[in-house]
Amino acid sequence: RPIIVWFRHDLRLADNPALAAAAESGSPVIPVRIREEDPDDRWLPGAASRWWLHGSLERLGGALAKLGSPLVLRSGRPEAVLADLAAETGAAAVHWNRRYGPAAVARDRRVEEALAARGIDVQAHNAALLLEPEGIRTKGGTPFKVFTPFWRALLTLPEPPHPTRAPDRLTAPPKPVRSERLADWGLRPTKPDWAGGLRETWEPGEDAARDRLADLLDGAITEYPTLRDRPDTDGTSRLSPHLAFGEIGPRQVWHASRHVADAHPERAAGIDAFLRELGWREFNHHLLHHFPVLPEDPLDQRFARFPWQTGEATLTAWQRGRTGYPIVDAGLRQLWQTGWMHNRVRMIVGSFLIKDLLLPWQTGQDWFWDTLVDADLANNAANWQWVAGCGADAAPFFRVFNPVLQGEKFDPQGDYVRRFVPELARLPAKWIHKPWQAPASVLADAGVRLGRDYPDPVVEHDAARDRALAAFATVRRKD
Ligand code: FAD
Repeated sequence: RPIIVWFRHDLRLADNPALAAAAESGSPVIPVRIREEDPDDRWLPGAASRWWLHGSLERLGGALAKLGSPLVLRSGRPEAVLADLAAETGAAAVHWNRRYGPAAVARDRRVEEALAARGIDVQAHNAALLLEPEGIRTKGGTPFKVFTPFWRALLTLPEPPHPTRAPDRLTAPPKPVRSERLADWGLRPTKPDWAGGLRETWEPGEDAARDRLADLLDGAITEYPTLRDRPDTDGTSRLSPHLAFGEIGPRQVWHASRHVADAHPERAAGIDAFLRELGWREFNHHLLHHFPVLPEDPLDQRFARFPWQTGEATLTAWQRGRTGYPIVDAGLRQLWQTGWMHNRVRMIVGSFLIKDLLLPWQTGQDWFWDTLVDADLANNAANWQWVAGCGADAAPFFRVFNPVLQGEKFDPQGDYVRRFVPELARLPAKWIHKPWQAPASVLADAGVRLGRDYPDPVVEHDAARDRALAAFATVRRKD
């Protein structure tokens, strides 16, 4: 009898234990993707994620068809879709790879119970993490809330299992299974078609993910520890959307990296630093598992009564990259144009939103959720809480990034700003991060009229910093 494989955030053939187990059984395999449009789900994929999902499903569908069993697309509540599919095809079992967000876990439990009631067996696997959250605890038996001891402890455990191979072929069920058409799912924007920059920047899919990893391990990895903080270089892997959609898994990244480190000891330091970042991804997923409120409420409860401002106009200036602080604006425009932003700049724009504009971190989280191609519930929430100073192992609130100094340090020639804020392109490096201080003659030579071509700063940073620290003082005392 056929086995159904339910694809979720694991849109790949290799290192896909659910698919591998189904294929190895020798039974016909029915790969399915379900479109769930639950209006009560606050975390349905945002616009940029939907664009990516289309490309990813297109490629996965092509690859599965080549193996012999095309991807089936269906819409509805998963328990109903899977039960109907089993009834239509005589399938006896459903395999999937586990997910870890609170809503996803509750949903999987519901689906499993509904299927069990109809005599359909469910088998769940791990494809998304190096180690599942229940597999690691502090000596006191509690979940880790600090990253470094978490990572150290993880490194002392046996290595994660080696990835499973992609199946060579799949047997399709004897009768073709009805499928919806991907084009009818409306995942890609039409009018207006805002996705031009995304198309130019990205190639979704498992093959592109593998190439990106290989490129990094063959090239930039040696300099990763220093260049990963430089938005003006291509110093990082840009694997994040591929990881978010599961086009590549952390175990593949781990083992491929270790293999290269063994063969090329001079790359080992870079690889350790790179895997440590993957460790943050892991840590954040564990946090979300142990603290399901992470995307909604501050883990440090003092921040629940933080005196946030309500600033429509300042939020819009931030979202559009028109704050008057070039590094902040470059980051937000990179996000809007390409669906991605460099990590250093995410921290800078996050600090600016929360501390300079005093807007709640959740408003930044929501914007990122809609615009990032790598939007990921655990990573997004944990990082926003980290920047806000209210998360686990977070940067303290009083550490307020100065956007001018950050720009000068991490984009020293201003090349990153020039690329995304072209109206400032002709300013010399000395002034590019603080155009309001530039002499009138310099601005005139560069063709910049502040307040017209490029905005004056929406806030004065030093005053904004004082205001933020005063606001923090009102909640600082532990109850
Ligand atoms: P690399 O430097 O090549 O790192 C390799 C991988 O490690 C990444 O692909 C990612 O999976 C992981 N990683 C790297 N840095 C972090 C980090 N700080 N936290 C968790 N994992 C990390 N990342 C997301 O994947 N999705 C998000 O929604 C997201 N939102 C963020 C929001 C804010 C406010 C901040 C400050 C960071 C956020 N990040 C998020 C983390 C980080 O910015 C991106 O993972 C990273 O920029 C991706 O680029 P890369 O793949 O080239 O990273």
